[in-house]
Amino acid sequence: MTSSVPAERIARVTDLPPNPDGAFVLYWMERSQRTADNPSLVQAVLRAHDLGRPLMVVVHINPSEPGMNLRHLDYQLRGLQDVHTNLAAMGIRFVLTVGDPVVQLKPLMRAAAWVVVDRVYLRHQKSDQSAVLPHAAGTCERIEGDVVVPTHHVTGKREYAARTLRPKVMREMDRFLEPVRMPPYQAGWAELPDDARALALDAAAEVLRPQTVDDGAWSLPNVPAGEHAASHGLDVFLADRFAAYDAHRNQPQTDDVSHLSKPLRYGHISPVTAVRRARMADVGEASLTSFIEELVVRRELAVNFVEFSPDDYDRYTTLPEWARKTLDEHRDDERTPRYDFATLEAAETHDPYWNAAMDEMRYSGYMHNYMRMYWGKKILEWSDSPEEAFTTALTLNDRWFLDGRDPNSYTGVAWCFGLHDRAWTERAVFGKIRYMNAAGLKRKADPDAYVAKVEQLKRQSHAAR
Ligand SMILES: Cc1cc2nc3c(=O)[nH]c(=O)nc-3n(C[C@H](O)[C@H](O)[C@H](O)COP(=O)(O)OP(=O)(O)OC[C@H]3O[C@@H](n4cnc5c(N)ncnc54)[C@H](O)[C@@H]3O)c2cc1C
Repeated sequence: MTSSVPAERIARVTDLPPNPDGAFVLYWMERSQRTADNPSLVQAVLRAHDLGRPLMVVVHINPSEPGMNLRHLDYQLRGLQDVHTNLAAMGIRFVLTVGDPVVQLKPLMRAAAWVVVDRVYLRHQKSDQSAVLPHAAGTCERIEGDVVVPTHHVTGKREYAARTLRPKVMREMDRFLEPVRMPPYQAGWAELPDDARALALDAAAEVLRPQTVDDGAWSLPNVPAGEHAASHGLDVFLADRFAAYDAHRNQPQTDDVSHLSKPLRYGHISPVTAVRRARMADVGEASLTSFIEELVVRRELAVNFVEFSPDDYDRYTTLPEWARKTLDEHRDDERTPRYDFATLEAAETHDPYWNAAMDEMRYSGYMHNYMRMYWGKKILEWSDSPEEAFTTALTLNDRWFLDGRDPNSYTGVAWCFGLHDRAWTERAVFGKIRYMNAAGLKRKADPDAYVAKVEQLKRQSHAAR
């Protein structure tokens, strides 16, 4: 156990000294919406004690944020209940602001002695920070608490594939798994400045729902949200299903996966916590190695991709040149069948396995990894052009998945079009992009049992609505 946040997780955003008139230390919680194993929160508590000022934690929700819909809003708000409760138990003031981030956060930035923020990766998140943080009247620092190995520490460039990132991450991993001790909070209760506006968390749904896009993705109140549920979900997975993880990772008819992608997306759980607890489980080497490969190597490859492709991680142009070239050469190939966006979204194709995958996404906000690959590949096969396929896959991904709008989303979709992969045998439509078909699914897994699993899930979801 260490008592300070590793220096590699910390970056200074401004060179200003602490604001001598600042009434509190402010932590703008954005990526890490949790109180446990949160290096930003530890850092903010340490600063509060150093400066002798109380700590205020603010979460800001902008209902106009790109891609935000009612499904995401509901999950995020339910997750914040734990943050609110846990901070209150520690004696720390929690504040929720909503609307335009500059207008709402400026009064807090100006009144703070010191500001701590989470490192964020997506374009709109970075642009919000760039617009808001110049209003800070004191020192501002950014903490990276949602990857195991800090992104810029591990490499200074966009990595080519998992095989190039893996040795760099694995070399450093152990050092960053050491828990950082949360000091007892003793700095008092922060008062809201007169010109700041906050919203009670209980009132937030009523205020925000009418302002949030309703794109048809209904909310999923039966999906547990928040750090308590995430921690419990991890424990249940490790106790009951982890032993089968390696053998069943590509068996979508089973459920021997962690479902951590949803809580990880909102920072309800730290990947460091997940690795530490997985290492304590007594399940043998194979499942532990596979899990770390996904949770650390693949997930941090996604963060690396987004961080080092800031302008186009969500655009077709982000694909490697060989992939765009081969797809272009097969642009005019016959596509049979072809489906438009509405048919795909309604899960009304001729393919029962694909429809089940789309339904898993619609009714649970989640999809098994193996089916995500099949799902994305088929969109490429059935769309008029690779560009249209790319846009369709990303739109559906980010609309329906609770774990959507994450570095993993952009990387997962782009992988279906050749990112982080190599050239395979050339064929129609796909060119040299890796191909998947229903015969392969049947050979390697039991897709009919998967269809039955999704049917049951749909019945449960209907019952919960
Ligand atoms: C087309 C496509 C779209 C995808 N969209 C998303 C998305 O929107 N959000 C998302 O979080 N993941 C996405 N993925 C990656 C992956 O499918 C999911 O992270 C995984 O299925 C989540 O299930 P789990 O938490 O039960 O995974 P587990 O198998 O239990 O893995 C544990 C954790 O490792 C990470 N992980 C697992 N597989 C991958 C992977 N292939 N790439 C990167 N990290 C991984 C995740 O954080 C996951 O929670 C996508 C993959 C593809 C092919």
